[in-house]
Amino acid sequence: MNLSSMIDPFGRAITYLRVSVTDRCDFRCVYCMAEDMHFLPKKDLLSLEELDRLCTVFIEKGVRRLRLTGGEPLVRKNIMHLMRQLSRHLKSGALEELTLTTNGSQLERFAAELSDCGVKRVNVSLDTLDPEKFRAITRWGVLDRVGRGIDAAQAAGLKIKINTVALRGFNEAEIPEIMRWAHGRNMDMTVIETMPLGEVDVDRTDQYLPLSELRAGLERQFTLTDIPYKTGGPARYVSVSETGGRLGFITPLTHNFCESCNRVRVTCTGTLYMCLGQEDAADLRTPLRTSEGNELLSRAIDEAITRKPKGHDFVIDRRTRRPAVSRHMSVTGG
Ligand code: SAM
Ligand code: SF4
Repeated sequence: MNLSSMIDPFGRAITYLRVSVTDRCDFRCVYCMAEDMHFLPKKDLLSLEELDRLCTVFIEKGVRRLRLTGGEPLVRKNIMHLMRQLSRHLKSGALEELTLTTNGSQLERFAAELSDCGVKRVNVSLDTLDPEKFRAITRWGVLDRVGRGIDAAQAAGLKIKINTVALRGFNEAEIPEIMRWAHGRNMDMTVIETMPLGEVDVDRTDQYLPLSELRAGLERQFTLTDIPYKTGGPARYVSVSETGGRLGFITPLTHNFCESCNRVRVTCTGTLYMCLGQEDAADLRTPLRTSEGNELLSRAIDEAITRKPKGHDFVIDRRTRRPAVSRHMSVTGG
């Protein structure tokens, strides 16, 4: 198969695949999901074998980094079987990195095995260090359990990056404390602007905190220096002199980073989204199931990449009440 063949119409090489292995989750974060979410029937999901086949074709076509996400990837039954299967591509050198984004609730159980599969770093989402606020923002989560997951991951030698969604009136004042805590434990941290994805029960206009504003506030307390550090994702990093740590900013709204986009996303039903913020998608489940060979699948991927849009058009303001896309972040995965 043709290596590094996925070049989109804007000349961007697609080398990073994010796979949402389930739309289900043991949390109900208020900015991500409505409380009474309807999940996909199990029969619509790709099996673990199908997910492995799909990922393998993407790797053969030039993907070098693979991130499992969700929903909560660690609640998918037998997810470690898929991890172990995929780890063969690390061993062969075809894949540079295999990683995941998790809410941390199941990390205590899986950390050692993840490390054993060649996972070197994981992103853990955490928006507050206050147990009651944590319960409020996740609706169902228990902070202590996530803390034990982080301990276990570090004990297993995994590097952790803390992902924090910046929410006005919820954690903006706490972000310096979360950063000191993360850096004190030798973890990078990234702050993310809330994106208008899917209908949720809260008003996003009230929650939206532009990171330009957050950064200006941080600069009154800390010395932030832009650095060229990159992890393959869209974050732009600064070093923080006072803590000695790194802080990333993911700014889909205030600073569009689409020009350097190297990513596509597949959902657990085999739908390929060429952009997180656009509705256009390609069905990969049909070509996957129609034939045992991978030719049809490979062609469907090539065709889809020719449709990768230039970028997203997220807006959050009082006049734009509707989400940019109707699907929730838990469908496409972070
Ligand atoms: N359940 C895992 C977790 O929470 O890390 C993985 C999936 S979750 C959808 C991935 C990331 O997306 C999390 O860091 C979460 O905070 C973020 N996220 C969810 N909804 C979002 C939204 N509307 N805007 C910005 N980030 C969002
Ligand atoms: Fe679940 Fe992650 Fe969405 Fe929270 S952000 S509800 S943990 S998928």
